Amino acid sequence: MNYSARLDRLNQGLQSAGLDALLVTYLPNIYYLSGFTGSTATLLVTGARRWFITDFRYHEQFAQQVGGGYELVDNTSKKLIEELLPQLAGSELRRIGFESDRLPHAQFVKLQALPELSFEPTTLLVDNLRLIKDAEELARLRAAVALNERIFTELRGLIGPETREADLAAEIEYRARHYGAEAASFSPIIASGVNSAKPHAGFTAGKLVPGTPLTIDMGVRLDGYCSDMTRTVFFRDCPPQWEKVYAIVREAKRLAAAAIRPGVTGAAVDAAARLHIADAGHGEHFGHGLGHGVGIEVHEGPRLARTVETALAPGHIVTNEPGIYLPGEGGIRIEDMHLVTADGNENLNRLPDELLVVG
Ligand code: ZN
Ligand code: ZN
Repeated sequence: MNYSARLDRLNQGLQSAGLDALLVTYLPNIYYLSGFTGSTATLLVTGARRWFITDFRYHEQFAQQVGGGYELVDNTSKKLIEELLPQLAGSELRRIGFESDRLPHAQFVKLQALPELSFEPTTLLVDNLRLIKDAEELARLRAAVALNERIFTELRGLIGPETREADLAAEIEYRARHYGAEAASFSPIIASGVNSAKPHAGFTAGKLVPGTPLTIDMGVRLDGYCSDMTRTVFFRDCPPQWEKVYAIVREAKRLAAAAIRPGVTGAAVDAAARLHIADAGHGEHFGHGLGHGVGIEVHEGPRLARTVETALAPGHIVTNEPGIYLPGEGGIRIEDMHLVTADGNENLNRLPDELLVVG
């Protein structure tokens, strides 16, 4: 990964914000700027120098993993704010930005107690750099999507009359790691019968319910990058009333996919799906936004939703996941991941989204 290019872009952001340095405390941002996958670290980044602050447990991992020309600073004593920051700042650094969306309040209070230094809130300085994926990130995202589809395809062959929601969730988590992913990118949603009416149902110990929707929303994290895909299939058979609902969601997804291109706002893409669902009489049954970015985190920017007035740009990744949820009955959601290209978009998923009966 080209960490120096990322750090150069970050430093341009610091200069425009009039900051001498940025204190990076959010682990996904630390991974983006250094490649570190451990659980405890802080970065202090300036135009001229950058420090990687962590404790004894991660010194060896730092040497093996961290790119970008950081100097290691030992924080085994856990005195980052009280001692290390004033030392590192010396007489050069005065205005230091911190990630105001990410810093725990208790640490903020400690920062405020440092007399010589002025800590300035910043919002999404690093997160915004992460929106546009470079070639190496895209390669990893494509590999994550491909593994996701492999596992989903295998899952279909495992479904039988005794299958429980929890069994399928466990297979996803096991197979993700077995095939080389770090983990599932989120706890799988396996929702059968009335459970499928809850967009974020999780899974239960209950058996799959014949003749109802079975929503499988799953992802893997492979080489640091996530996938996220949903298919709603039908266990044993699909009653005609659900065929109709499925067709509405699938058409909404197709319309939204056709709208994804540079310069279009998140609200406009969301509307392409939402208007179709509303025209079909299900406006109040689609209560969540249409999509979100995916990368180091399974949910990141940019969002596709009613209030999002920022425009898409080449290199953005967005999910397209319309749904219809009928309380007490069940629900349908279908989700793919798209790359915004120079003149439109590419659906990273290859798996068809036709109605499928399993088991
Ligand atoms: Zn999903
Ligand atoms: Zn999603």
